Amino acid sequence: MTNFNELANLLFPNVDKTPEYYENLYPARNLKEGARVTRLAPSPTGFLHFGHLYACTISYRTAKTTDGIFYVRVEDTDQKRKVEGAVEVMLESLAAFGITPDEGIMADGTQKGAYGPYIQTERKEIYQTYAKYLVEQGLAYPCFCTEDELNDIRAAQKEEDIIGYYGKYAKCRNLSYDEIKANIDAGKPWTLRLKSPGEVGRKITFDDMIKGKIEMGENVIDVVLLKTNGIPTYHFAHVVDDHLMRTTHVTRGDEWIASVPLHLQLFRCLGFKPVKYIHFATIMKEDNGGKRKISKRKDPEAAATYYISEGYPAASFNEYVMTLMNSNFEDWRRANKDADISTFPFNFKKMSVSGALFDIVKLTDVSKNVISTMSADEVFELSYKWAQEFNKELAGLYEKDKAYATAVLNIDRGNKKPRKDIAKWSDIPDYVSYMYDETFKENYELTGNATPELAVKVLTLYKDIVDINDDKDTWFNKIKEICEPVGCTPNVKEFKQNPDAFAGHVGDVSTIIRVALTGRTNTPDLYAITSLLGAERVQKRIENAIRHYEEVK
Ligand code: GLU
Repeated sequence: MTNFNELANLLFPNVDKTPEYYENLYPARNLKEGARVTRLAPSPTGFLHFGHLYACTISYRTAKTTDGIFYVRVEDTDQKRKVEGAVEVMLESLAAFGITPDEGIMADGTQKGAYGPYIQTERKEIYQTYAKYLVEQGLAYPCFCTEDELNDIRAAQKEEDIIGYYGKYAKCRNLSYDEIKANIDAGKPWTLRLKSPGEVGRKITFDDMIKGKIEMGENVIDVVLLKTNGIPTYHFAHVVDDHLMRTTHVTRGDEWIASVPLHLQLFRCLGFKPVKYIHFATIMKEDNGGKRKISKRKDPEAAATYYISEGYPAASFNEYVMTLMNSNFEDWRRANKDADISTFPFNFKKMSVSGALFDIVKLTDVSKNVISTMSADEVFELSYKWAQEFNKELAGLYEKDKAYATAVLNIDRGNKKPRKDIAKWSDIPDYVSYMYDETFKENYELTGNATPELAVKVLTLYKDIVDINDDKDTWFNKIKEICEPVGCTPNVKEFKQNPDAFAGHVGDVSTIIRVALTGRTNTPDLYAITSLLGAERVQKRIENAIRHYEEVK
């Protein structure tokens, strides 16, 4: 019978700390009853996927709605996938969506909080301490199998229901102390494996807060806990970290469900209270009538940076993600139009078990709504910040006259039924283009009953009477007054009753003026546009339009 303490000292001669030491160093958190501690645990690959944002929103909201703590831990144990500067990029992206961790890695790369370090490669000593403890308990052992030997085992398991290092296949499970010592003295690399106390055929059940009660076979595999370089696997690091960081709720993708029996076993072997698990289904996307995952390769919207560069405001994005997360959110929003999103009683039970469907059209609609309720100042500030990075031309136009830009953005804002022209800041350059000579594109195409002949008549009269100091009623009365002299009627009903008697109606007259001033047949309030453009521009655009229609009529 191996003396486990002796074995532990052989394997970890430099570990002088004990689990008690860390238990005292990271005491239970002093939070109010029911407060949840959650985390985002990204691998630093440099790519923040929509799935991360989704996962993060779930854990962030969970913490926020319970006055708990949300922290970020970097899972960089897979050095092959590590990209320099990736963590900062990911955290800046999170910040752009309004997610600021309470603790862990901050956007500037610094670490904050009493439960760190929050970077796994800086926690090697901690994992080694718990690994040593497991060896002392007879619950872990070194494995000297080479890659080739492991491949042979896999090849021999073709007929097995359970694949992996266990039972008769676990060659190193029962090595004696002397055999182990000889291997170590010979300098053979080793991994540390769990000596799984599980039994084939035994079942466990656990409660997933989204999926409900789940029954699965107990873990029987002697999984690797520490790799040959002493760095832990995800499984071991997850259990040690989430325990010591006092996480209460682990929210993660449902690809991890298969590992829950192992994780629960590890919690038990280490004497830890298990966390609560919340496994959410991957967000799907419709494709050719079917459903598939959002793909980093195929879909630009897979990348968090897409939403930032397109200029979706954080408020819109969060509003949309909440519609994906909780099916009752939209009803709640209709009943609580002005309420802060953080007051929505977010509930795991209302999450889709099979995976919500991502829909960019829906995001666009949600965002238009959100932006339509913002003040002009807010739209200006947020879009200016966006433009400084992503559209220098717009930023330049704004800078020429910020008050003018804000006034342009204020057109029709605050109405009972505000217009919904802007879904993202990248829509603004087109939306405001005719308000600036630099970007105004002449386009004299007419609709309805308007013809070039009629346009010449209307614009010639309008040019002389338009006065940008008029109030709205006077302005509109002038437009109506033009109708009769040009053979139109100010009364649309009258036109409809007797269309042959008129060249058009007041709508056609307005269209002609609108097209001359903006190059479009559909714009927000023409009166506000006219006043803001100013007398000089209005005159010039009307003259140019008359010249054009004279030529084509
Ligand atoms: N680093 C893991 C991943 O990126 C985290 C999973 C978890 O949240 O536990 O998949």
